[in-house]
Amino acid sequence: MIPITSFAGKTVAVFGLGGSGLASCRALQDGGADVVASDDNIDRLVEAAQAGFITADLHSVNWSNIAALVLTPGVPLTHPAPHWSVLAAQAAGVEVIGDVELFCRERRLLAPHAPFVAITGTNGKSTTTALIAHLLRQAGFDTQMGGNIGTAILSLEPPADGRVHVIEMSSYQIDLTPSLDPSVGILLNVTEDHLDRHGSIEHYAAVKERLVAGVQNGGTAIVGVDDDFSATAAERVALGGRKFPDRTVLRLSVKRPLADGIVVDRNVIYRVHDGAREELARIDGIGSLRGAHNAQNAAAAAAAVLALGVSRDVLQQGLRSFPGLAHRMEQVGRQGETLFVNDSKATNADAAAKALGSFEEIFWLAGGKPKTGGIDSLAGFFPKIRKAYLIGEAAQEFAATLEGKVEYEICETLEVAVPHAARDAAASELVDPVVLLSPACASFDQFRNFEIRGNRFRELVTALPHVVPVV
Ligand code: ADP
Repeated sequence: MIPITSFAGKTVAVFGLGGSGLASCRALQDGGADVVASDDNIDRLVEAAQAGFITADLHSVNWSNIAALVLTPGVPLTHPAPHWSVLAAQAAGVEVIGDVELFCRERRLLAPHAPFVAITGTNGKSTTTALIAHLLRQAGFDTQMGGNIGTAILSLEPPADGRVHVIEMSSYQIDLTPSLDPSVGILLNVTEDHLDRHGSIEHYAAVKERLVAGVQNGGTAIVGVDDDFSATAAERVALGGRKFPDRTVLRLSVKRPLADGIVVDRNVIYRVHDGAREELARIDGIGSLRGAHNAQNAAAAAAAVLALGVSRDVLQQGLRSFPGLAHRMEQVGRQGETLFVNDSKATNADAAAKALGSFEEIFWLAGGKPKTGGIDSLAGFFPKIRKAYLIGEAAQEFAATLEGKVEYEICETLEVAVPHAARDAAASELVDPVVLLSPACASFDQFRNFEIRGNRFRELVTALPHVVPVV
């Protein structure tokens, strides 16, 4: 845990008492602050009271005694409308911040030169964060990973010289971190998402940009430039660099050549200086990093760890040993020639497109709770799909789209789909067939969440005869 000393002797209100909210209460209290814990949900309040915190309804507190409101990122700061606690704090002139802001202030007090890697982007945040942490650990760095992935930031070990914090950040968290100053900042990409919470794509992109704009002097800002919003962000950050003479801005593309920056060409990651390429690492044959989207993630991770002093050899070995994240094109096992892949996180057609684009001979398990637009946008991949096994509420709709184009079977459940797909893939005698769960649907019709759906797929696959782990 990271005791937060910057509010010692003051009173801080914490609104939103989930995992990260309770961690903030603990960290503030341990650092010497008085904490007032609050939530709209009575169960959460009871839990916080049982954990020993003073709870209150922030409607009736005297805001003139409160130094800051620490807000959980799930609570609206600006859109569609500020939460009432935000309005109350603002009316009283009280700053509204999040747990990463508390971390940044503590880091400046304890170890301002300790490496702090912050990662954002619409897609690929978790993969890139996990990969960076893996590479740093392989290189023997004392590495703390958390934020929007796994552990709440204030439940990690405190900043210290020689210790690296690798922190995934959502746009909501960036919004609550006015003094965000990572030593390495990564903006992977910006596409339309969460507009309900940001009002417009321009506002959403501007929030994301702040993570790289804040990179401290001497640090490295790494910006994917394959979408227009991020490309513009890279330009602005480079211009803003006059205030930071020793800051490096590295543009990154997996789609086009750059005169300067990081590019990926045919699975090789290069550093380009004045048009001259220097090979940094190769990602061919690395199952956990298949696909152009993972090339972007791998290149960003490679640039980040090289900036922190990891050697090329360790980088290459670490890329090869990266196990990947569960439910994102996760290689579950092999039965003979057939590879089984769990991509349960693909809850919409865009995400499923990434997986379908990464394999050739596909036995596709799809369906669940349908999303608007269905799978029409996936038609370009249909020629690679040997057969589809349809489950859940979307089965009939998907069948109508596939009719006459792709052979399909309505299986209703994973319990039926997995053995049928395994049988057909084995009988096909294709080279490298893949049984791919990439549902292009939410899971809620049959499972509580995509993790439970993916776990069930994994159980069913490992229960098949002669399945071996992928090495
Ligand atoms: P996030 O944490 O941003 O949600 P993840 O690393 O968990 O991202 O990946 C979630 C899904 O997003 C993946 O299964 C894949 O479909 C897609 N994805 C991953 N990386 C990228 C990327 N760099 N660009 C576009 N899509 C990506």
